[in-house]
Amino acid sequence: MTSTASVNDRIQLIASGKSEESTCSPSLAKGPWEFDTGTPGYGPGASMGDVIPTGSPVQGGLPEEYKTATNEELHARIRAAKDTLGDRVVILGHFYQRDEIVQHADYLGDSFQLAVAAKGRPEAEAIVFCGVHFMAETADILSSDHQKVILPNLAAGCSMADMADIDSVTQCWEQLEDLYGTEPDEQGRVPVIPVTYMNSSAALKGFCGEHGGIVCTSSNAATVLEWAFERGQRVLFFPDQHLGRNTAKAMGISVDDMPLWWGRKPLGGNTQADLENAKVILWNGFCSVHKRFTVDQIDKARAEHPGVRVIVHPESPMAVVDASDEYGSTDYIRKAVEAATEPTTFAIGTEINMVQRLAAQHPEHTIFCLDPVVCPCSTMYRIHPGYLAWVLERLVAGEVVNQIVVDESVAEPARVALERMLAAKPAN
Ligand code: SF4
Repeated sequence: MTSTASVNDRIQLIASGKSEESTCSPSLAKGPWEFDTGTPGYGPGASMGDVIPTGSPVQGGLPEEYKTATNEELHARIRAAKDTLGDRVVILGHFYQRDEIVQHADYLGDSFQLAVAAKGRPEAEAIVFCGVHFMAETADILSSDHQKVILPNLAAGCSMADMADIDSVTQCWEQLEDLYGTEPDEQGRVPVIPVTYMNSSAALKGFCGEHGGIVCTSSNAATVLEWAFERGQRVLFFPDQHLGRNTAKAMGISVDDMPLWWGRKPLGGNTQADLENAKVILWNGFCSVHKRFTVDQIDKARAEHPGVRVIVHPESPMAVVDASDEYGSTDYIRKAVEAATEPTTFAIGTEINMVQRLAAQHPEHTIFCLDPVVCPCSTMYRIHPGYLAWVLERLVAGEVVNQIVVDESVAEPARVALERMLAAKPAN
């Protein structure tokens, strides 16, 4: 059963041999600077087996004093810097961040909630985004010109977002145009609408803005797909195949009409016949955190905890979503736990830091992660209090480090795709 210690504390106990729990990598107990060595890599954690694109950002350069400070010292320095900066800074913390970071966040939420929260703090000159790279890009796109968005560790990317790059999506698009043409049908629907998940680069959001497409989150994916089908005969959905498949299946679309597209292969590895009846073309991307959940884990939870309520995130594989009781976004999961009025046992399939926090916040319930192995998101875990203290103290000294800037030529069409999402309304 889940303890109420933080994920980092659990990992430290496992690494020192004081706990019988298991972790996917004992290296998680080390400071992330051990992996910020000049060579791109996701580091230990759920994405450690994924192939990182050449040229991905590396961090490096964290001054020694932040590596050797105790946690107590780092927390005191973060608090002091925050006090000095006052309203000039806002700290955003994603649900999947470690507790040692979340305790300093002004807002806690999913990527889009946090970008919107930043918009509500126009007096803040600096937005410190404790999350991953695509989230900081979205915050930069949506924030005011005078605001600077800072990612405390530049190596905090996202393996799923990296699975679809602008060149391979553009190649795919050209092949689809050759196949389907560009003329609308008699109902005015174009052959294909591109839909990108929020978990994608700014370049792909811009691509959608320029090609009549739209962005979705895990909360509004069905609404966005309905929007797309009003305007298009089919959808190209990237980068997460699972969110696309689970959402489209729940809307009644057959999985047979959802071919998988492998980037850089002719026709994405499909035949022309495969693509002729396609309703949703799914990019072959996935989240390595949510891919860890299995039907066997659900069966075990049901056997050991009769009456357990199993809730999983829609980035999980279809068989896992089908075997669960409910599925929904991080916000859905949080609200479902908060709304339970009777003591309930929850088995949850999402990132372990969030599950652990829910367990600590709701001692009236029994809450545990479906995956028994302690395996956080590799890149979310790259944000350590040492980096947060560093970027804040540099701000106090008048220096902006690790700023994330999206060029306006990309930001403008990306904003169009994001605004389409905000304007999309659920069907009655
Ligand atoms: S949890 Fe998955 S989608 Fe989210 S940042 Fe980590 S790898 Fe990316």
